[in-house]
Amino acid sequence: MPAARAVDLIVAKRRGETHAASEIDWFVEEYVTRRLPDYQMAAWLMAVCFRGLDRQETAALTRAMVASGDTVDLSSVGSLVADKHSTGGVGDKVTIVLAPLVAACGLPFAKMSGRGLGHTGGTIDKLESIPGFRTRMTVEEFRSQVEHTGVAVIGQTERLVPADGLLYALRDVTGTVDQESLIASSIMSKKIAAGAGAIVLDVKVGEGAFLRTEEEARRLARLMVDLGTDAGLRTRCVLTAMDEPLGWAVGNAVEVAEAFAVLRGAGPADVREVSLTLAGHLLQLAGFATTAETGRAAAEEKLDSGAAYECCGRWMAAQGADPSVVDGRDLPRAGVVWPVHSRSTGWVQRVHARSIARAGLLLGAGRESRGAAVDPAAGVVLRATRGWQVTAGDILAYAHTGDETAAKAVECLITQAFEILPDPPSDAGIVSAIV
Ligand code: URA
Repeated sequence: MPAARAVDLIVAKRRGETHAASEIDWFVEEYVTRRLPDYQMAAWLMAVCFRGLDRQETAALTRAMVASGDTVDLSSVGSLVADKHSTGGVGDKVTIVLAPLVAACGLPFAKMSGRGLGHTGGTIDKLESIPGFRTRMTVEEFRSQVEHTGVAVIGQTERLVPADGLLYALRDVTGTVDQESLIASSIMSKKIAAGAGAIVLDVKVGEGAFLRTEEEARRLARLMVDLGTDAGLRTRCVLTAMDEPLGWAVGNAVEVAEAFAVLRGAGPADVREVSLTLAGHLLQLAGFATTAETGRAAAEEKLDSGAAYECCGRWMAAQGADPSVVDGRDLPRAGVVWPVHSRSTGWVQRVHARSIARAGLLLGAGRESRGAAVDPAAGVVLRATRGWQVTAGDILAYAHTGDETAAKAVECLITQAFEILPDPPSDAGIVSAIV
């Protein structure tokens, strides 16, 4: 009977019919317990891609996914806890700035993060490039660290939303990743299960993101905010530009070094801007500020006074690293730092995020298949970005790698990532909408 019932659900979705919540619960449970084979789940996922899920079905799928594993109870922390998620970009090191920044404002921050796959990096790979930094801990240790240090960022435990691990792997190989309800339920189930009470989602839009248009991004944002709100989470989405890498560094240790520089009051303006904007919204959501603007001002004070930098040192120590690593000197360095020169003269209009990400991947900073190792020191560091005037022969970027051959192989890719024209580009803001 279960096999026939699964077929009925697949056919119903193929015809565009609506499932009851109990049917979705049953389907997800059967799959997680491996009674439902991959081929039936794959057929259903494809039907969802063509027919969609409505708001109730998406909420039911999210609840069923949360129920597939453990949930984290952070109520012992004694106050609301903040979390953050990015839909994935190039050079996105914001979590490493934001976590100690909101913690320095008194708002505990607790995040379970993923590893990078394909063209976007993962926070866990970045943090693991810090000597001694531990990303694996038990839920009890995680909770205790949030209670005592006010900040913890660890790898997602296997018991958190196991349905998503299975479904995501299947979506990856069946061309069913980019469906709005599947993405929203995947992201929000993990956030709901991880136990925070206030969450800000950084929805990346543009060539370097998986959402290319603002319209798509707004729809996904609305859906995620609704799912979060239904689950009792104070949720907000901030849409930010991802046509070009965020900041100058793309990789692991090079990105950590840049995040630490922002905490020291230096670093690129766009990383600072996104971090302060997200901090402002989190502080308002958690009731620490009356508006996102006053929240941002409070965060800016903690950044400029050095309080966030000091908090970062305490966070590093709590997770096994030397607190002095925040000065950036003891991070892994690549054996080869290869300059890439401009072939033309003019103004940088744009630095194509995907090409820089691809170069980083080829240098060893990312992975194309799950479980592959990454080189913590590899990556690309830009020397010129949008709005810079360059002359032929100027250095545009450095390729960081252990291998000169790899550096030479990406030289052309990096040069072509730079769009250079005779006139300066128009101004472009980084935050486009709040949902
Ligand atoms: N990130 C996730 O966690 N899930 C998706 O489906 C897409 C992006």
